[in-house]
Amino acid sequence: MTSPTPIVPSLIGNSWELINTEKYTNVFNPATGNIIAKTPMCDSKLVARAIESAKKAFVSWSNEPATVRAGIMHNYRGLLKENFEDIAKLISTENGKTIAEARGDIQRGFEVVEFACGIAEHQKGESLSQVADKIDALSIREPLGVCAGITPFNFPAMVPMWMFPIALACGNTFVLKPSEKVPLTAVKLAELLQEAGLPQGVMNLVHGGKEAVDTLCTHPDVSAISFVGSSTIARYVYKLGSQNGKRVQAGGAAKNALVVMPDADPESTLRAVMSASFGCAGQRCMAGSLLLGVGEVGKSLKDKMLNAMDDLKVGNPLLDLDINMGPVIDKNSQERIAGVIDEVSKEAELARDGRNLINNKGFFVGPTLFSDVTPKTSIFKHEVFGPVLSMMNPKNLKQAISWINELNYGNGASIFTKSGAAAKEFRSNVKCGMIGINVGVPAPMSMFPFSGWNDSFYGDLHMQGNEGVQFYTRQKVTLSRWDHTYENKFGW
Ligand code: NAD
Repeated sequence: MTSPTPIVPSLIGNSWELINTEKYTNVFNPATGNIIAKTPMCDSKLVARAIESAKKAFVSWSNEPATVRAGIMHNYRGLLKENFEDIAKLISTENGKTIAEARGDIQRGFEVVEFACGIAEHQKGESLSQVADKIDALSIREPLGVCAGITPFNFPAMVPMWMFPIALACGNTFVLKPSEKVPLTAVKLAELLQEAGLPQGVMNLVHGGKEAVDTLCTHPDVSAISFVGSSTIARYVYKLGSQNGKRVQAGGAAKNALVVMPDADPESTLRAVMSASFGCAGQRCMAGSLLLGVGEVGKSLKDKMLNAMDDLKVGNPLLDLDINMGPVIDKNSQERIAGVIDEVSKEAELARDGRNLINNKGFFVGPTLFSDVTPKTSIFKHEVFGPVLSMMNPKNLKQAISWINELNYGNGASIFTKSGAAAKEFRSNVKCGMIGINVGVPAPMSMFPFSGWNDSFYGDLHMQGNEGVQFYTRQKVTLSRWDHTYENKFGW
């Protein structure tokens, strides 16, 4: 007899609940295609209960001293360390990325927790004595209230951890709605928060899709929304949340370019380009998906890429620790990516076709390379979110920069060169928020904002770093007058 598929629990207050609903989304192990759990698609009533629980908890949590909040983050940091390998396996199981990539996924979130441990320093306000005659000014940063996080499937640990550690450390309470495709890592992250000593109701976890998201964006007791996902939904969440008076930050899709100059170091550049393009099976909002070999470097770069792609090992991350690339998230993604390859191969040269892996068990797509792509090719502006790289051949750096600036998105762009002048030209003129110089994936560490521009981000304050603290707090400025002429009336 086979055991029933487990239902993913939700956390309301201090209790884990198995929600009874007609609607579930299957959670797969993408490397085998097996169903490993069922995510309940929570309705608005359940989400409202989670918001109510967070609202109640805010009263005492927001009054806890900064040192107490930081202390819980310290405990959490320790527990994440102890459970690091188990979480990595969980991420690989439900997302399909390699164990090394899963470790990177937690590590980046872990660093945000470390940042949050220093909240007493980061949340400090400013003061100025004698700002006017006998008047002192003091600004403090107060938490907002109930904050919500809505996250995508591609970084089950890092993206939620861009959000809740800073929100909680600032004195807010939180409702997290992770991607229904990868909810198990979020459950583990929430369990460890409880173990770290976070009081009841401060962190809540719900699951689902549009109905859950709409409730978070419209409920009067939610103060702020952090969203990461596709640009269509990011725009929708930004608009709906803002219309309902909430502070919103919403990260969206991307199309990131890697520019290789003729003077670039061949070996390290090839390694960086391969990892940026095919790491996490191309399912990264910082994935390199356009490779611009400037001038004569184009031809030799293509040959080197094809050789390196021959050596790329694709497989099941839990069975073979040596693989370089796992599957994509689900059957829909696999078919969508295959459809893109079908279409684009009518317009550009398909130098390496990854569709040969599609009949295997699991949701695999092999590394794919198009060459001779131009700004007129349909793939140029569209995010594929799979292991598909497009090569372009600009005649010089100026043309490379002008092509990049035709893109609607604005997450990352990288240049590989030994020339400081070329790097400076690139950094100064490319219109996107994260620049790599001899770095393929210029995703900033936790003390810097993850600074998407254009259609890659809607809002003002980005996630992580001091912008994260600013997003999850509002300022209160106090002016005080202590004037002897009053006090002397009392005769001292
Ligand atoms: P997605 O937009 O499908 O889902 C993101 C979240 O929105 C999920 O929690 C999902 O349940 C919810 N959602 C889905 N449909 C909805 C609807 N109709 N109404 C309301 N909510 C809805 O994104 P995904 O496929 O999970 O993630 C991949 C995308 O995320 C890519 O485009 C990638 O570039 C982007 N991403 C961006 C960043 C960034 O920082 N800019 C980081 C990681 C991923």
